[in-house]
Amino acid sequence: MGKPTGFMEYKRELPPDRGEKERIADWGEFHTHFDEKALRKQGARCMNCGVPFCHTGDPLVGGCPLGNLIPEWNDLVYRGKFEEAYKRLSLTSPFPEFTGRVCPALCEGSCTLGMHEPAVTVKNIEVHIIDKMFEEGKVVPQIPEVRTGKTVAVVGSGPSGLACAHMLNKLGHSVTVFERADRCGGLLMYGIPNMKLDKRIVMRRLEILEKEGITFRTNVEIGKDISAERLVGDFDAVVFCCGAASPRDLRVEGRDLNGIYFAVDFLRRNTKSLLDSDLKDDSFISAKNKDVVIIGGGDTGTDCVGTSIRHGCKSVTQLEIMPELTVERRSENPWPQWPRIKKVDYGQEESIYLYGKDPRTYLTTATKLVGDVYGNIKEVHTSKVEWVNAGGRMTPRNIPGSEKVLPCQLLLIAMGFTGPEQHIIKELGLKTDPRSNVLTPAGKYSTNLKGIFAAGDMRRGQSLVVWAIHEGRDAALECDSYLKSK
Ligand SMILES: Cc1cc2nc3c(=O)[nH]c(=O)nc-3n(C[C@H](O)[C@H](O)[C@H](O)COP(=O)(O)OP(=O)(O)OC[C@H]3O[C@@H](n4cnc5c(N)ncnc54)[C@H](O)[C@@H]3O)c2cc1C
Ligand code: SF4
Repeated sequence: MGKPTGFMEYKRELPPDRGEKERIADWGEFHTHFDEKALRKQGARCMNCGVPFCHTGDPLVGGCPLGNLIPEWNDLVYRGKFEEAYKRLSLTSPFPEFTGRVCPALCEGSCTLGMHEPAVTVKNIEVHIIDKMFEEGKVVPQIPEVRTGKTVAVVGSGPSGLACAHMLNKLGHSVTVFERADRCGGLLMYGIPNMKLDKRIVMRRLEILEKEGITFRTNVEIGKDISAERLVGDFDAVVFCCGAASPRDLRVEGRDLNGIYFAVDFLRRNTKSLLDSDLKDDSFISAKNKDVVIIGGGDTGTDCVGTSIRHGCKSVTQLEIMPELTVERRSENPWPQWPRIKKVDYGQEESIYLYGKDPRTYLTTATKLVGDVYGNIKEVHTSKVEWVNAGGRMTPRNIPGSEKVLPCQLLLIAMGFTGPEQHIIKELGLKTDPRSNVLTPAGKYSTNLKGIFAAGDMRRGQSLVVWAIHEGRDAALECDSYLKSK
């Protein structure tokens, strides 16, 4: 612990985001970096407490799922030893440049300082360490000295697939990653928008992974271009990391009108067009001059708000069926659990700046969608709801007399995902859990079929980038034990 009194001397500070006016005019990242002096002070706030919950990674308690050695690199940052901090960080985290940008920072929710003062700015310190190392040319390909002669196919190149491929390659196996999209990265590339995670950051890492010896085959869909059975026959082991790509649908009258899209399709087409042609190829779904309604008040909904605003939408509303969260932790959600509190994210900030209001409407649901004579959506009918106990299960019930009509020419469904697509699962006969995810023994990644593993959202259900990396990394270790035993 570098500075024993640091947590008393310095307040929590973060570099200011780019102002709303400036950032909504482009697609660049909205976060900025601190100068080093200010960052070192933030590192000094870490108390190196005896029981650092920040790296426990327990889904029920909180902390970093990667087991990042946070107090150690906080101390090294305070001392200005950035290269050593990077080495500590790399022991547990293969891609800190992703988590340092998009992780909700589970570690900060369980930081001991957070019991009585704002938590240490762990996530910001993490991204600073890795970005500085990239800038200084210190992040270089680590090519394994010995190859085992074993081959592994990883299906899907999202964070779980990349983490899995990275670890297997490091252990000397020859890894081929199959990806059905034209670019690798999964939701890092075609889900999370550029203003949150610049795609050059993703491509920079992909180049390193390729130089380390991983083969990437894009535009190849397993189960269609190559059968899953053939893949299993061709490789010594296969790890499926296909995500949880089946979106939850909105089942109301008028669902088949034009102008209604799943949020992921809206976001994917926007990023693809942005990368292919700087949005000049007309292949994205435009929100320009439209009243946009987003069903879902979560993070994907926020990404749709930010994207619609950058297109120049007329108005934007987010409908959220759950009640508004409190600003402070509630007693049933104590430290060190992840605090379930209300946050105002970048999309909401931008809406407040432009339209003078938070776009979220709570305890509200869409009851009917109405179109014009051409079959294009023109209205969303809504109702307030109350949550009632129906046979032991809390269920939303519409409140009579609370109905409203919202003008809408673009409706985006951001209601989460029901689970992975089922075609590969069915083709191979993989067992699934009651939520349709691939079934593995608790804490393991092996499926009911020998030599076949599953990781990421496809196994645990819709989750976070940091959990996907954790799963990919640990599935690789289990796959390695299997290959060694073979
Ligand atoms: C819009 C959006 C924003 C999000 N923002 C955040 C955030 O800010 N922070 C955060 O922590 N989490 C966020 N998440 C969640 C996070 O992105 C996911 O939990 C994470 O990406 C899951 O990783 P994965 O590798 O399991 O799957 P994915 O990232 O979904 O990757 C799966 C990959 O498999 C490929 N694939 C699927 N089937 C096949 C096949 N048959 N053959 C070949 N390839 C196939 C897909 O094309 C895809 O590239 C967000 C999710 C969404 C939808
Ligand atoms: S990966 Fe997430 S939880 Fe882990 S240290 Fe980084 S910000 Fe915290």
